[in-house]
Amino acid sequence: MTIAVPRPTAALPRVVGAGLRVPVVSGERVEYANLDHAASAPALEEVRDAVDELLPWYASVHRGAGFASQVSTRVYEQARASVRRFLGARPTDTVVFTRNTTDALNLLARSVPRHTSVVLFDAEHHAALLPWRGPNVHRLRTPTDPAEAVAELDRALAATPEGPRLVVATGASNVTGEIWPVAELARVARQHGARIALDAAQLAPHRPVDLRELDVDYAAFSGHKIYAPFGSGVLVGRADWLQASDPYLVGGGATARVADHGDRLGVAWSAVPERHEAGSPNVVGVHALAVACEVLGRHWEQTERHERELLARLRAGLATVPGAHELSLFDGDRDRVGVVSFVVAGQDAGYLAAALSAEHGIGVRDGAFCAHIAVHRLTHGERALRASLGLGSTVEHVDRFVAALRSLVVDGP
Ligand code: PLP
Repeated sequence: MTIAVPRPTAALPRVVGAGLRVPVVSGERVEYANLDHAASAPALEEVRDAVDELLPWYASVHRGAGFASQVSTRVYEQARASVRRFLGARPTDTVVFTRNTTDALNLLARSVPRHTSVVLFDAEHHAALLPWRGPNVHRLRTPTDPAEAVAELDRALAATPEGPRLVVATGASNVTGEIWPVAELARVARQHGARIALDAAQLAPHRPVDLRELDVDYAAFSGHKIYAPFGSGVLVGRADWLQASDPYLVGGGATARVADHGDRLGVAWSAVPERHEAGSPNVVGVHALAVACEVLGRHWEQTERHERELLARLRAGLATVPGAHELSLFDGDRDRVGVVSFVVAGQDAGYLAAALSAEHGIGVRDGAFCAHIAVHRLTHGERALRASLGLGSTVEHVDRFVAALRSLVVDGP
């Protein structure tokens, strides 16, 4: 008889705040169940420790000769290397640190050549939907079949005029968690000589994103969604457009030289990435983001397994709640990250979210999740609820959420 040797299972990365208790209306204190990872994920313990270690040393980067400045500069530049590894960036790609995904996509929008045709789907988060303006923006209605989305993009790109073209696509929907066919969209973009930018805000915390494998030109994501707090984000991608454009935020750091020419100033901008990082950068936030990239990069297998199990449990539980209806952009059951939005017939989403918090210590989100077009189309104008999972989620959180929702819906207030 052979005995199967269990594979050693490396532990999941731990987040801070696990087991925190919060007061509920009964007067008890219960363990907080944070089912709002898609909005912001709690910091990893390793991130907290790394930040703690850096705090005595943070200083201005690139400018000071002092020891603390040298430490901070080294940490800051090492963070670019971590992000490169995390995203499988090419040597020609630049890594620009930003405040968040919104900032990164706005920076890209200000950096594309004039008259660039931009093609995107209308289910995007507002951070990806809104920065593009003018007659050259082609907003496509999101079809219910991902293959049709690829065909739609093909048709739209064929109809764009000669000149630079950019496709903007999301990796995973912040409403439904569904994973978009990014590699297929990139292939079509490439066939038309277009570039493609990936809003990886929701995909990067849950699945590996490899720019070379996906053949994507740009990617943006936020530190606070990958278990690193402190307002840092990143835009990674081809350097040429970013190098050719004037910075949209100007000031120290973005300038190589400023000269007084009497009636005007002569300004020579720095090369990328500093060109687009004016002002004193968020060294601590960037370090936190980089450490989170390193930790996630070492734990994909466990992270994915954990989230898939919890997601299956959450969806199965939700199916038992009378009147609950899960939102999907696409027909059929697509691969998704741990994000589930739903409505409950006859129930107000705002009331349910407030009651889940006040009575059960469970944090979910309600509303339209900065993706108004997608949510309002799927809910016929109603607000929705969203439960989203991550490394801080447990089986107990999911089961408590399902039981609490059932009791609110069945028993009422
Ligand atoms: N894109 C997607 C898909 C998101 O879910 C979000 C945030 O929820 C963003 C962009 C914007 O991220 P941030 O608010 O960190 O800029």
